[in-house]
Amino acid sequence: MAELNFSNLSKQFDGVPALQDINAQIASGEFVALLGPSGCGKTTLLRLTAGFEQPSAGTIDLGGQTVAGERQFVPPEDREIGIVFQSYALWPHKSVAANVAYPLEVRRVPRAERQNRVSEALTLTGLSDFADRMPSQLSGGQRQRVALARCLVFDPRAVLLDEPLANLDLALRASMHDVFSMFHRRTKATMLYVTHDQGEALALADRVAVMQAGKIRQFAAPETLYREPVDCFVAGFVGDGAVVPVRRTGRVDGHQPVVNVFGQDVRARSATTEPSHVSIRPESITLRDDAAIRGRVISCTYLGGRFRLSLDTAGETLVAFATRRAAIGETVGIHLDDLWAFHDPDS
Ligand code: ADP
Ligand code: MG
Repeated sequence: MAELNFSNLSKQFDGVPALQDINAQIASGEFVALLGPSGCGKTTLLRLTAGFEQPSAGTIDLGGQTVAGERQFVPPEDREIGIVFQSYALWPHKSVAANVAYPLEVRRVPRAERQNRVSEALTLTGLSDFADRMPSQLSGGQRQRVALARCLVFDPRAVLLDEPLANLDLALRASMHDVFSMFHRRTKATMLYVTHDQGEALALADRVAVMQAGKIRQFAAPETLYREPVDCFVAGFVGDGAVVPVRRTGRVDGHQPVVNVFGQDVRARSATTEPSHVSIRPESITLRDDAAIRGRVISCTYLGGRFRLSLDTAGETLVAFATRRAAIGETVGIHLDDLWAFHDPDS
């Protein structure tokens, strides 16, 4: 397994930027998710890493070796990278075992060792009983397991996955999350996992790179993205809740800036003394009859064990959790605590 570094990496297609000045260091054995809306450049970053595209500028290093740069270019077949696509890309006329054995055949691994490694990969992905089946006889989730087995069989330096669960239904996606986690624990592979699904990224990755319009906006652990977003885009794209502009008060309370939100002075956690917005997560809201901030219930959804309320407060939509059902149109008191404030001059 190998570390993966992007330095000042840019890619244009016919002069139109798809990636702009990407800088990121991914540790050996780290599971990183690339998260962002459609068209933000996730697949382009993966294709550059795999060697299917050449960068317009900047470099990619894999395991200390420059695989793409101004003068270097290591072709895809020499990068020792495993790739899993949304479309599975299995050989339809080969059995499961033959599909998984294929990368070893290409690398001329002797037959006996090939059989051992295939059987190990099939066991790891829970496919031992399906070795002789054809891909057409498998479900979507099983096919994706074959694709995983096929890429782990040759001990790649890194594994790239491009929306691997996009074709699967919701229940299957959840169970495949466990398969990916297990796969990562067992192989300790350096993994780059592309998704536009924030739940998937937060659930699976050690760190998440949130991308927008060809740039990485924030690259951090899931908890940090959720609790301490750097800008309005990340705050809105990751997790539930609202992003609300604030008025600065200039006051500080115990190193924490005091901001004015909905007419009330509230202490916020922050990395800046000049915040422009706060991220209000559902966990920051306690419903209290005596609270000065009032909200009108727009919707109430039962989640099992608790209710999710959408609340209109001065034209902003807040999200809160409640232990009892609330009536649409009912007015509730909103106590705010543990808000995160940040400076985003562009919004
Ligand atoms: P994502 O995977 O995040 O949806 P992509 O990396 O596929 O985004 O695309 C990023 C941008 O680059 C998009 O605007 C897309 O239209 C453009 N793009 C991607 N591949 C090509 C290509 N081969 N030729 C021209 N434009 C491309
Ligand atoms: Mg894509």
